Amino acid sequence: VSLDADVVVVGAGGAGLAAAVTAHQAGSSVIVLEKMPKVGGNTILSGGALNAVDEGSETAIANKDSVEKHYTQTIEGGDKQGDPELVRTLVTNAWDGVEWLKGLGMEFKPGVFTVLGGMWPRAHKPVDPVGTGFFNTYMKYIDANDNIKVMLNTKATELVVKDGKVSGVIAKGETGNKVTLNAKKGVVLATGGFAGNVEMRQKYNTKWPKLDDSIKSTNHSGATGDGILLAETVNAELVQMENIQLLPMGDPKTGSLSGNIEQGVENRIFVNDEGDRFVDEGARRDVMTAALFEQPNNHMWIVLDSHDYPTGDEKNNFNESVNELIAEGRAFKGETLEELAAKIGVNPEKLSAAVEDFNKHVDGKEKDSFGRTLYKDKIDKGPFYAAPRVPTVHHTMGGVKINKDAQVLDKNAKVIPRLYAAGEVTGGIHGTNRLGGNALTDILVFGRIAGAAAAQAK
Ligand code: ADP
Repeated sequence: VSLDADVVVVGAGGAGLAAAVTAHQAGSSVIVLEKMPKVGGNTILSGGALNAVDEGSETAIANKDSVEKHYTQTIEGGDKQGDPELVRTLVTNAWDGVEWLKGLGMEFKPGVFTVLGGMWPRAHKPVDPVGTGFFNTYMKYIDANDNIKVMLNTKATELVVKDGKVSGVIAKGETGNKVTLNAKKGVVLATGGFAGNVEMRQKYNTKWPKLDDSIKSTNHSGATGDGILLAETVNAELVQMENIQLLPMGDPKTGSLSGNIEQGVENRIFVNDEGDRFVDEGARRDVMTAALFEQPNNHMWIVLDSHDYPTGDEKNNFNESVNELIAEGRAFKGETLEELAAKIGVNPEKLSAAVEDFNKHVDGKEKDSFGRTLYKDKIDKGPFYAAPRVPTVHHTMGGVKINKDAQVLDKNAKVIPRLYAAGEVTGGIHGTNRLGGNALTDILVFGRIAGAAAAQAK
């Protein structure tokens, strides 16, 4: 079969569907290819936190936040390796993206919060759990409109180039059949990262002690770097492939973020299997993960109290209550810290001492020896809760090089005509370390830019 559209998008995650809807709004016909049996990619698994500053709003003023601060923290948080022009594009278009989503009917909770590794209270949280709000919104639009559709179980395997321009995609269809998609205007790569590709992450890893298959990933199984490999066939430049982000927050069995009982960065501590704290729990993701790699068994416990779970039935970011997790044996509860310590097998004196020490810092009486600065409540209200966590591969910051218009650049820094990329498949925005909450901003902002640019391509 051979199908025609103005714009062909590869990947139905957050970046791909933002691009698809935007291109359609600009008057293009759009076909989205998705290799998995459903839309969502990693985006749907995310905690849903989206960083954006509504410059000058009451909330921003109250939090002493600004677009400039978002810019500076993103650049510095990535050790100044992020491309300044791309970061500028990211932060200045973030709030506009939120308003666009609201215009499509997506709802956000009021206020902002600090997400793990996000460094500042500027994350917006959708009303729908995890990343589902984005897809409910995009699919409602796609289902309600003609000339925009998603083909599931269809995997892009080749880019077609004609007269030096990318003119389409060859894909393997549901029954193994070959499908040719002719793109009259442009092709958008939105295939996500390569956290699920053990071979690729080992090839590029220079930073972590190991990234073999003993280290799991938060990602869905389709995050295998396909778009990066496709882009390489047309001589695309790859940047900063060694920048691979891990989180200290993986489920020990699956690597997934589910089972993470935290309700916010301010209210929980991490202790190792001995019962000792070992890091600033508000630090950068790479700092926390590196510290976790130095602990016995690379294993830790998140410990918090009933400030976060007044009844135990409150839900975490993943729509799980701590009571449900306890029933599944994935979290533990003690009426006292001693009882909790016994349940999780850590030294009770050490756990109590760690909490006591933490509580002094909440009062501001003493400086934390690990440098922690983010506090809200003391950990003093039983019952107390704990859940185990290990390092897990989360995000690959390297990828295809793009310019601020989401055009893919080749090894000679020239635009590859009619090829666009957005989201985790791209590289060079987040530098060494992506801030928590900036991935959803990235896919929204650059997905929209890629969709708009592809729709205008000549
Ligand atoms: P992003 O956050 O950048 O949008 P996601 O991981 O959320 O990335 O989404 C990427 C999507 O692309 C996933 O749904 C994934 O299954 C899909 N995908 C990856 N490779 C291919 C491919 N070769 N053909 C079609 N879809 C693909």
